[in-house]
Amino acid sequence: MKIALCVKQVPDTTDIRWTENNTMQREGVESIINPYDVYAAELALKIKESQKDVEITAFTMGPMQAQEMLRKLISIGIDNGVLISDRKFAGADTYATGKTIAAAIKTALSDFDLIVCGQFAVDGDTAQTGPSIAGNLNIPQVTYVKSFDKIDKKSIVLKRELDDGIETVKVTFPALLCVLQDTYEPRRPLINGIKLASKAQIKILSAEDIGLNDTDVGLKGSPTYVSRAYRNLSNHNAQKYELPVDEGVNLLRQKIEEYSPKLKKEAENA
Ligand code: FAD
Repeated sequence: MKIALCVKQVPDTTDIRWTENNTMQREGVESIINPYDVYAAELALKIKESQKDVEITAFTMGPMQAQEMLRKLISIGIDNGVLISDRKFAGADTYATGKTIAAAIKTALSDFDLIVCGQFAVDGDTAQTGPSIAGNLNIPQVTYVKSFDKIDKKSIVLKRELDDGIETVKVTFPALLCVLQDTYEPRRPLINGIKLASKAQIKILSAEDIGLNDTDVGLKGSPTYVSRAYRNLSNHNAQKYELPVDEGVNLLRQKIEEYSPKLKKEAENA
């Protein structure tokens, strides 16, 4: 069984810088693995532990420095790493990103059974990339995946966490999953894994390697653009109270009672 794991490097949130095109500067910026992708990797590794002959290949689209993240994933048990990297990919929106990652998976792992993504990336936070990859490859997708119950050579039974409860879904392969964050502690690198990671060959794919033209990728292949980026400075009149819990609850109740008629009136007049 072959699994493609999609992982994104995101800027360390305390260190965000912008380019002149209002996009996030990623090269030369301290980066971490997207927290949701740690859980996507965990789900893939749990599948590997439950089945014979499972091979997991991690794919990331990003700058050359993202190789380090792929090596870290190899150190925890992921088998291979593929870096999709080309200057031409700069400025890609989610449409172009989905198309590019789908083309890379088709090129490097055409006989995949499952693609496992995180649910969101904490920087872009659109949750569009997984569904876009599935759309480009014309395969079914299951989002909001929390865990899996059963798996065989042809299908997987999953638990989805929704606002109004838990749903159990069965999907046949090939399929794409978007995995939610969980509460368990992600695994740590193994000594043997660190050795493997240091020697691993990371495959690097350019736009040409994956058969895409200049007009399919990056800014030229992106139907959307960032017109302005700004910090949302709140001008609310915030007040801070330090109170015991029961007094805090009473105060909160009093404030809600005070404000509700006001808000209701504002809504009626809007
Ligand atoms: P989500 O869709 O929230 O991510 C969900 C999951 O998809 C992740 O958990 C992961 O599993 C997978 N995934 C997402 N991104 C990747 C990836 N790169 N590799 C592997 N798996 C992934 N970004 C730049 O870096 N440079 C730019 O110049 C740039 N320009 C942009 C211009 C525009 C107009 C727009 C709209 C966006 C731009 N972006 C740029 C952001 C870029 O499009 C997004 O980072 C990317 O499409 C992923 O979307 P997201 O962050 O919302 O991820």
